[in-house]
Amino acid sequence: MIRYNKKLFSRFLKRLNPDGLTLDTCWEWQGALNTAGYGVMSSHGRTLTAHRIACYWLHGPAPSEKPCALHSCHNPKCCNPKHLRWGSHEENMQEKVTAGRANFLGPRGSLSGHTSLTEQDVLSIRSRVAKGEKQADLARGFKITRGSMSSIITRRTWKHV
Ligand SMILES: [Zn+2]
Repeated sequence: MIRYNKKLFSRFLKRLNPDGLTLDTCWEWQGALNTAGYGVMSSHGRTLTAHRIACYWLHGPAPSEKPCALHSCHNPKCCNPKHLRWGSHEENMQEKVTAGRANFLGPRGSLSGHTSLTEQDVLSIRSRVAKGEKQADLARGFKITRGSMSSIITRRTWKHV
């Protein structure tokens, strides 16, 4: 089980730009993003999505029939708890349709519009790793998680590049 404790929340808050945070604006995640464009952070070897932490913060644990953290602002990077609520899978799909994201088929590349990487970045990452650069350093440089990095290297993602 993930432990949502004070320590986790203080690490979470450090990844948000404290300037200009009001309850009306989106709190954009400044840390790593996953291939779908959501903020991520690691805790005890697990990757947690930042907006779920934000949702938990205000609303408590997700009810079993509402396991999805939904954005009212349609901004995947946003961690403003006021823009988040727990919802069902059906509501989640509905939100995606509303946001014009019904065609989201998973991490296929920059055309999916939910990744910070381009095809060019992926090519450059693979060639730099081949030349001996450390994956961890590259992951930091490109602001992606170590997990996303290894998926790129092992071609679990970005197969088409
Ligand atoms: Zn927002």
